[in-house]
Amino acid sequence: MKHQEFLSSLDQQRIEKAIAEAETRTSGEIRVHVQPRVVGAEIRPVAERTFERLGMTKTAQHNGVLLFIASEDRKFVILGDKGIDDKVPAGFWDDVLAKLTIRFKAGEFTDGIVEAISAAGEHLAKFFPPVEGDVDELPNAIDVSDE
Ligand code: CA
Ligand code: CA
Repeated sequence: MKHQEFLSSLDQQRIEKAIAEAETRTSGEIRVHVQPRVVGAEIRPVAERTFERLGMTKTAQHNGVLLFIASEDRKFVILGDKGIDDKVPAGFWDDVLAKLTIRFKAGEFTDGIVEAISAAGEHLAKFFPPVEGDVDELPNAIDVSDE
């Protein structure tokens, strides 16, 4: 599936709403990024650069989470900022990623992403409960790169 086709199959509004909803339950900030491919074999370093570029290292509690998707490679990864990595056990996102893998194989992209966002919110809520006067530190809209 081509990148543009993948994008047009996504219900971006529904995904944006799912992020806003998840962020009512946690002080963590969730973002989704989609690009066609990752050059080279490793997705993680590419996702890390995107994490930086999107200003996601700058949240007050260092609790930003990025779902990074390479649409044409059918690869994705979840990255959490250091505030999260310091607190959570290893393999914290494994169940979220496993479910998303199944959804992607079935071509259920929006449902899979919405489910992953909601699960990520629940995971985050255990370690980062909502705070009074919460600020939406990072935009909820999907970040898209065409290359
Ligand atoms: Ca927030
Ligand atoms: Ca946000």
